[in-house]
Amino acid sequence: MGRTRPPALSRGDLLPSVRTAVPGPRSLALSARLRAAEAPGINTLYRDQPSLAWRSARGANVLDVDGNRFIDLTAGFGAAAVGHAHPAVRAAIRRQSAILLHGLGDVHAHEPRVELAEQLQRLSPVDDPLVHFAVTGSEAVEIALKTAFLATGRSEVLAFEGAYHGLTFGALAATSRPLFREPFREHLTPRVTRAPFGLAIPEIEGLLVRSGTFACVIVEPILGREGIVLPPPAWLRDLASLCRRNGVLLIADEIFTGCGRSGTLFAVEHEQVRPDLLCCGKALAGGMPLAAVIGRRPLMQAWKSPGEAIHTSTFVAHPAACAAALAVLAALRTGRLPQRARSLGADVEQRLRPVASHPRVREVRGRGLLWAIELDDADLASEVVALALDRGVILLAGGPLGSTLQIAPPLTITSRQLATALACVAIAILETSLRATAPAR
Ligand code: PMP
Repeated sequence: MGRTRPPALSRGDLLPSVRTAVPGPRSLALSARLRAAEAPGINTLYRDQPSLAWRSARGANVLDVDGNRFIDLTAGFGAAAVGHAHPAVRAAIRRQSAILLHGLGDVHAHEPRVELAEQLQRLSPVDDPLVHFAVTGSEAVEIALKTAFLATGRSEVLAFEGAYHGLTFGALAATSRPLFREPFREHLTPRVTRAPFGLAIPEIEGLLVRSGTFACVIVEPILGREGIVLPPPAWLRDLASLCRRNGVLLIADEIFTGCGRSGTLFAVEHEQVRPDLLCCGKALAGGMPLAAVIGRRPLMQAWKSPGEAIHTSTFVAHPAACAAALAVLAALRTGRLPQRARSLGADVEQRLRPVASHPRVREVRGRGLLWAIELDDADLASEVVALALDRGVILLAGGPLGSTLQIAPPLTITSRQLATALACVAIAILETSLRATAPAR
């Protein structure tokens, strides 16, 4: 029998097609090879299970090496907000890679970097800003923290429980989950105070004023990886005023929420908040590694150094990533993707209404195309993730206990794909809970 052709990816607007067990034989073989070659910890998809091996991805579709086609409800950790391999992003990378792939980082310049810095300056909800590029989200957080220390001469940081800011040392100290911090506790700065997310503003003021040594407050406008939690209405705005009153800088970590996902270009815009420093990354370059900090000019000028740059890296403002980011910003604008996130978000809310009343669902919540289905335990969540994968839907469980399903698809997902994927998730929740309550025979 001849080999059947793998299903097409087209523009990435197709429904799932699963033809093998998931992961299939080729995924299993690659997964085994990876386990033998890569350090444990980052080489498994979920709870020690073999990984799915991706072959290609387009729009909201992922094709694995066994020829199965999925709908990606994770948008590749949020990086594919404009869809996987957006045609304009691919064209920009192709054009740029034909002329310049390295531009001597902080020492020399190149056109896409200049153009992107100017566009971020124009688009960001930060007063009179300057831009500092980074490679990853964690690095952007490091830069924002360093800026706050340099500009204020103070060193204390207020972060929130449930925050995820990355896993490099500076960012890790601000990240909340003890699992990530504990093994490195002795090496992390103790100068981070953690408050409950959404804590009453007078109590936060008490903390800041008592010490008088806080440089900054770092906050995700919506907690992302740790469970997609929205703050109480007006809390972010009141937090921003509190920071301003007390001369403490506000860092908005928009690495997950930025680039249109919450229904506005940046999530702080829902409350007309203008942070002192704003971090973005993930979706910024459509799948290429690029992040940035956009900060008020007087703060960013604290970086002036008489000699060498005191924070840079070999690949800072990579030409292909900058070119890709320019294509992403154009796609967000011409496709009106923040607005699309808002209208599809209303659709998600409606479609998840029946799920919300299921006895094992604690809460359904979200904004734009960032939604959570919080279940009553992590085992159930991992079963749902596995069952959904069997049906051709990729989703992740997050939250401090791993019991929250995250719905964060590309903003370009079609209504039909979204409806199908959400139905798969709903059926998976029903199936697992029916299985759990079925009488033993
Ligand atoms: N901040 C937030 C809010 C994030 O969601 C993430 C990544 N999940 C990071 C920082 C770290 O970004 P990166 O993984 O690119 O280092």
